Amino acid sequence: AAKAAGRNTVRFYDEAMNRRASQRLALETDLRRAVARDQLVLVYQPQLVAADGSLAGVEALLRWQHPERGTVSPLDFIPIAEEVGIIAELGEWALGEAARQMVDWRRRGIDVPRVAVNLSARQFHDADLAERIEAILAEAGASAEWIELEITETAAMAHPSDAAQALERLRDKGLQIAMDDFGTGHSSLATLCKLPLNVLKLDRGFVHHLPDSDTDAAVADAVVTLACRLGLSVVAEGVETEAQRQFLADTGCDVLQGFLFARPLSAAALEAWLAARGGSSSPSPALGCASV
Ligand code: C2E
Ligand code: MG
Ligand code: MG
Ligand code: MG
Repeated sequence: AAKAAGRNTVRFYDEAMNRRASQRLALETDLRRAVARDQLVLVYQPQLVAADGSLAGVEALLRWQHPERGTVSPLDFIPIAEEVGIIAELGEWALGEAARQMVDWRRRGIDVPRVAVNLSARQFHDADLAERIEAILAEAGASAEWIELEITETAAMAHPSDAAQALERLRDKGLQIAMDDFGTGHSSLATLCKLPLNVLKLDRGFVHHLPDSDTDAAVADAVVTLACRLGLSVVAEGVETEAQRQFLADTGCDVLQGFLFARPLSAAALEAWLAARGGSSSPSPALGCASV
């Protein structure tokens, strides 16, 4: 009986593994067609100026609307897109879509000062990245000043000199560069200082236990001080409570993003959210080292 049970267990795992493998293959096949089939959408999460709550910009986040599975999270499909080599196509679609959306908002008098778009580490493998991005913005009729690119430490550190060159070309064209999920990757501070950055995004892992965690409070404080000394601004992500908002504003974070203010919203829902607040955005705040 034990032997039979053992065999059954093995077969059970085999079947589970086969099922997972074929599900994954189906997902890959579907993902390859997602752009052409118009199944990708962007949602936009507001980023607010800490000092006065005005709109600093929005972060564009990808969603895949799968006909059977419903909305698939980027955490589930971005890694697949990277593995099967179609992340550049998805990333370029996202940038083009965000740029077209900004043009549309401008035309309709809806004041969204900037959109942040995420770049995958894999997109840095393309030697023409800066030129491709410029071409995408030109085709959309968007100005480089409206766009912020979010890169991760992993992307920047994999090939630091290539990344620095590509980022310098992009910044020369007028784009802003943000280091996403700052503090979670493997960046050396020496390399970080050589990158042409405008923004550090404090990872939400450091925000979650504020204001109670002394170590996370120390990290937040150190990141603000470092950014300030380097002439960068700080965006805190994952702000969920009023106590976190207060702490981060007092610590000197420039911009705040999180569910406390709004979840990522469809373009139409963002417009309604903006209209409901009634407020307009203000120019980007001057950077000051007030907290040090
Ligand atoms: P990310 O760039 O760090 O984006 C922030 C993530 O945090 C988003 O998850 C957002 O919904 C979530 N978030 C925002 N505020 C809060 C909060 O207060 N609490 C919590 N718990 N979460 C919050 P999302 O949209 O699921 O995206 C996950 C990740 O997928 C992104 O992390 C980014 O790394 C990646 N991603 C999304 N869109 C793109 C894209 O167009 N290209 C690339 N390469 N990656 C993307
Ligand atoms: Mg991001
Ligand atoms: Mg982030
Ligand atoms: Mg993050």
